Amino acid sequence: MNNIRCPHCGLVNRLDALTCLRCKLALAQTAGSGQGAAAAIAVAMTMEEFAVERPLWVAVGLWGLKTRDVAWAFVVLSILVATGWIMYWSWSGAFMYLAAVWYFLAIRWVEKNSAW
Ligand SMILES: [Zn+2]
Repeated sequence: MNNIRCPHCGLVNRLDALTCLRCKLALAQTAGSGQGAAAAIAVAMTMEEFAVERPLWVAVGLWGLKTRDVAWAFVVLSILVATGWIMYWSWSGAFMYLAAVWYFLAIRWVEKNSAW
């Protein structure tokens, strides 16, 4: 990929050409100034997308939990419930530990990729 095809006339121009050799259409806007800039824009757009959109497992895990403190409270609560369940009833309470891990991972994801 060392060339840019002009979107107007179809002439193949050099990658660093600012305007099309045939029709003088500015190529800078459509092609960016080289692949570095294009990659930077792609990364920026991806980051922005992450900041807005949470993956389904994060969204479900933190459903209705508006703040970080509430989410952490659910982590602690899940561990307490799981422990009590196992101690006083049965080992089936271990699945509550999974809920705690889920909350924890979802919190970690939001802290890395987004904001509360
Ligand atoms: Zn052209």
